[in-house]
Amino acid sequence: MIGYGSSMRTVLITGAASGIGAGLATELAQSGHHVIVSDLERGAVEAVVRGILASGGSAEAVQLDVASTGSVTAALAGLSRPVEVLINNAGLQHVAALEEFPMDRWELLVQVMLIGVARLTRAVLPGMRERGFGRVINIGSIHSLVASPYKSAYVAAKHGLVGFSRSIALETADVDITVNTICPSYVKTPLVDRQICDQARIREIPESDVVKQVMLKPMPKGVFIGIDELAGITSFLISPPARNITGQMIVVDGGWTVQ
Ligand code: NAD
Repeated sequence: MIGYGSSMRTVLITGAASGIGAGLATELAQSGHHVIVSDLERGAVEAVVRGILASGGSAEAVQLDVASTGSVTAALAGLSRPVEVLINNAGLQHVAALEEFPMDRWELLVQVMLIGVARLTRAVLPGMRERGFGRVINIGSIHSLVASPYKSAYVAAKHGLVGFSRSIALETADVDITVNTICPSYVKTPLVDRQICDQARIREIPESDVVKQVMLKPMPKGVFIGIDELAGITSFLISPPARNITGQMIVVDGGWTVQ
């Protein structure tokens, strides 16, 4: 259980059927928030919601494709209550040199992790403004600050996300709305697991070396970031003491970028 004395809020999380999104949904529900668990497939989010309800939390499931304006409109229209906190978490990765990177994949990554964030934020902002409260929390990445080879679409989208967040922080500064971006280095989720074989192939090293030599090596602390850490930071950003933190990157990188 985490908390900084904040009121219980209605929190919409995208990409919440798996990994960080599912973990945030579970932990925020444990703290008493009502969580709207959304992802591409309704069946997958229903499993997360069942888990939350079974442990006494409050949650609802919604099918939501952040890359589709029609899906966003339909999803928001069907909610039981207004969104007070939006967590833009949906994401995907593709690892390839630019010359071999299929352009439709490149466009999809930007569509989901940058344009999709703008699409959904744009849709919930009027309600937040009307009610005089809102928190937009974007899941950025260490790749919002630094680059890695073979991840050009991901790095471009995650860098762009920070510029977007800063602009919207300024546009909403006249009301109690904040917009921030949490930037973790590697978190052990299905998204990272899928990269291990791609990285091994491209770099021509054994899969067993990818975690140590590629993923954990740049982090002085040498460990994966935990979803509980991201949940704690999210909880803090929602709470009253964080009301003047806006337009910021909260970097959770085990010391990667201070070297
Ligand atoms: P994950 O693959 O476990 O989960 C991502 C979820 O996003 C999936 O459930 C997927 O269905 C969903 N999604 C994809 N396209 C979507 C769309 N168009 N609309 C709605 N949902 C969609 O990955 P994860 O590691 O939990 O990643 C979550 C977020 O955290 C991503 O934005 C990712 O970039 C970011 N992140 C992850 C790491 C890491 O190391 N795992 C590090 C930094 C940032």
